Amino acid sequence: MLARLMNLYMGVDLSTGAGRALVEERYWSLRRQVPIVFLLGFVNISAMELAGTGRLTFGLNVPTFIACIWVVRLKHWFGRGSGRDADHSEMVKRMRQTVFVAAAVCVAVCARCLYLIHFSDEALQMAMMLFGGLTAIGVAYGLTALPAAGFIPLVLIIGPISAVALLSHEPRFAGAAFALVAAATFTLRLLGAHSRHLSAVIQSRSAIAGEQEVSERAHREAVVAATTDFLTGLPNRRAFVAALEVATAKGSPAAVAILDLNRFKAVNDTFGHAIGDLLLVEVASRLVRSVGKRGLVARLGGDEFGILFHDLRRTRDVAAMGRTILARVSGPVLLNGREFIVTASCGLSIAHKAGQSPSRLMADADVALYQAKEIPGGGAALFEAQMEASRRRRGQIERALQRSDMRANLNLVYQPIFDLTTGRVIAHEALARWTDCELGAVAPSEFVPIAEQLNLIHDINGHLMQMAFATARSWPASIRLSFNLSAIQLCSPGSAAAVLAALEKADLAPDRLQVEVTETALLADFERARANLTRLREAGATIVLDDFGAGYASIGYLRELKFDQIKLDGGLVTAAQHSEDGKRLLRAVIGLCEILGVSSVAEHVESRELLMLVQELGCAAGQGFWLEKPLPAERLNTLYGGQLAIDDGRHARRAA
Ligand code: C2E
Ligand code: CA
Ligand code: CA
Repeated sequence: MLARLMNLYMGVDLSTGAGRALVEERYWSLRRQVPIVFLLGFVNISAMELAGTGRLTFGLNVPTFIACIWVVRLKHWFGRGSGRDADHSEMVKRMRQTVFVAAAVCVAVCARCLYLIHFSDEALQMAMMLFGGLTAIGVAYGLTALPAAGFIPLVLIIGPISAVALLSHEPRFAGAAFALVAAATFTLRLLGAHSRHLSAVIQSRSAIAGEQEVSERAHREAVVAATTDFLTGLPNRRAFVAALEVATAKGSPAAVAILDLNRFKAVNDTFGHAIGDLLLVEVASRLVRSVGKRGLVARLGGDEFGILFHDLRRTRDVAAMGRTILARVSGPVLLNGREFIVTASCGLSIAHKAGQSPSRLMADADVALYQAKEIPGGGAALFEAQMEASRRRRGQIERALQRSDMRANLNLVYQPIFDLTTGRVIAHEALARWTDCELGAVAPSEFVPIAEQLNLIHDINGHLMQMAFATARSWPASIRLSFNLSAIQLCSPGSAAAVLAALEKADLAPDRLQVEVTETALLADFERARANLTRLREAGATIVLDDFGAGYASIGYLRELKFDQIKLDGGLVTAAQHSEDGKRLLRAVIGLCEILGVSSVAEHVESRELLMLVQELGCAAGQGFWLEKPLPAERLNTLYGGQLAIDDGRHARRAA
């Protein structure tokens, strides 16, 4: 109770930051002042003793008492546990003790003063009063840091002395008493004002410090948020580029890897974003584990990760590191009870000199990644100067594709597809040809993916489709037009309607059209692809799965989506000619098509032997340079005797 009262009076509240700051301020000021206060008290009391008794001895008297307490208190204030290691409750404890010590000392001083006043003559009595008063006011000032202690000498010394003086009914003493009480009252007011001022200063200082802390914390959090990837907790692209800038500026050995997951979009689309996110988190932790302290791993966005390797410069080491990282990241991952096989591609580049631009290094790694993605199943590729040429060419193609006269330079050739039993042409596959005025002929396998990325494919393919439909109208009704749909077209809402509208405009029946789609295109957005293909199929078009066996040959969707034909990938077909394994594989895939009830078409039939082989293995149809090369529209007329009728003799010869 007493302690709580005293705390209240001392203005101590340890529950708030400002309260604690105030305690610290009072404590440290008091610690500085206490020795001086004692010195002042000691000198004044010694002088009073000397004046009152005419002698000064060290015996059982007040100066000796003060000196002893001084020594004890100095030890207390400056001994162990009183310095930086003192906590707030310890500080409060010491200050509370100071109040008691001040009271004890003041009582002793007051008693001695009254004693001397009582036994002195009138002249000395006045001096004693002044000594007592001065001592009290001096000590009170010395203890301003702790008003609770500062008030004590004023009350316990000046109070009784003034009372005694007033009771003496002596006008001189009464005057002196009034003067002392006035001085004490004024000092008390000053002490109170000082204490309030101190509290106010500390309060506002704490408030400012609090605000500063809040704004610093907010700043720190903003920096973290701006440089951290929310999902994986890894540094983001911005942080990665900043780290790369530091490394390249210093000229220390550094290498960059950009790692991209293969077919991540398909996982995301098929199994949902929650699974996709889990997969990314797992890949991130695998990367961090495998890179360790040798570098910095960041998520650059989507399924792309960046790694900055410190202390790597030798080509051999960087390439080996790329392979190691890939091997550690790849492999099965179990998510929600389902197993996923992670594969990735990795492009690497090396900083060869100080000050190499980070964006250049990243672009080099990107070019290398582009090459790495060509490796079936994913791989690692280190940037080489000649890749620069391919990057330049890509830039040229991008610019050429955007030129206004691009469409005028587009053309189509048609490659016949033969029924391998009758030898008759059943369809012509339209294949795009583009001859740019500067670049010359650019293969569709080169420009179609770039046009897709630039979102120009709708325009280009729309134009090609119109040309193809117009050409196909003049063919015999038994020959279909086979047209390749790009991934973006296949997965765009409304593209089936656009194709049907174009057919109507060209006055070509939908059953004359055959669309070829690839597995990769399907998987880009299976549901949309299915919607488009179903609409086309219902209208009468034939749906062909192209390049089967080139990618992942996932048979799951073969059951979900009905195809009319499956085109076996050229690589699968030609491999059958070179090895027994290849032949067995081709036989198995043809068998699979039979089980699914879909007829198979062999493409890239490049030789007589291959033709015989695919016939023997049971392929229903065939296409390839041996059978016929892609031809311009007008050559088809000559080929079929001007009436587009099949020259039975010729194809029977080829089929034989
Ligand atoms: P694809 O659909 O698999 O087309 C077959 C490709 O194989 C054609 O190459 C054709 O010329 C080639 N080929 C035909 N017979 C043989 C052979 O016996 N041996 C070898 N090695 N190759 C043969 P092309 O015309 O360069 O087309 C490449 C790819 O470009 C096509 O592959 C197709 O995916 C795409 N493409 C072509 N035209 C178009 C188009 O108009 N639109 C879209 N979206 N893609 C197209
Ligand atoms: Ca095709
Ligand atoms: Ca193909």
